[in-house]
Amino acid sequence: MIIAIDGPSGAGKSTLGKMLAKKLNLLYLDTGAMYRAVALAVTREGVPIWDIDRIAVIAETAKIDLVGEPDAMKVMLDGDDVSVNIRTLDAAQAASQVSTISEVRRIMVDHQRAIGESSPTGCVLEGRDIGSVVFPKADIKFFLTATPEARARRRYMEDQSKGRISSYENTLAEINERDERDVSREDSPLTIADDAVVIDTSELDLSEVFETMLAKIAEQSPTKIAPTT
Ligand code: C5P
Repeated sequence: MIIAIDGPSGAGKSTLGKMLAKKLNLLYLDTGAMYRAVALAVTREGVPIWDIDRIAVIAETAKIDLVGEPDAMKVMLDGDDVSVNIRTLDAAQAASQVSTISEVRRIMVDHQRAIGESSPTGCVLEGRDIGSVVFPKADIKFFLTATPEARARRRYMEDQSKGRISSYENTLAEINERDERDVSREDSPLTIADDAVVIDTSELDLSEVFETMLAKIAEQSPTKIAPTT
């Protein structure tokens, strides 16, 4: 069972992806964390964004692991826990820049397919190109979206609750800049797959979206559901 969740930043992909993975006993893969880890490795090595060849080598050789349960997942880069370091606004911007490089995308997509296919029960993957590129034959594809203001508000509140320094205005500007880059890049831009279920989460609370997603999964893949609770 492969569940693809795509959409712009702050639409609720991570929270809902984790909830679905738990409920359906599937692996959860946050593909954005992988691009963020590559970006951090690039920044740490002081490689400029135009040096595509060196960045591709870093993407190929960096050891990126996502370990633990969905709710407490750690992102490891070459054995170092970078879960906190990859969540800054700078890291998000750097991730959106390295993710425009085709060679980086090819390497990440290969990893993501291997991880998704390795899970005996299946996998929930969330990102920008899961339904369009990584798993075009996913059992079900969701595209979650919301207004930029609603998404910035959620991101800002999440940052506050985790003690990260930010302002609503900066968060909104950052989200808009990243969205623009994600939809306009040449390789695998953020698009809505033809067969995706689109959910606008602006006015919905989490449980409403979750129930809608579960109902769609039950409708489209009834035989593959093996809930744990
Ligand atoms: O999802 P998250 O905001 O953590 O992703 C960080 C950045 O990585 C995104 O802004 C996007 O540019 C890039 N990304 C991508 N493809 C994915 C996941 C993330 O290009 N599948």
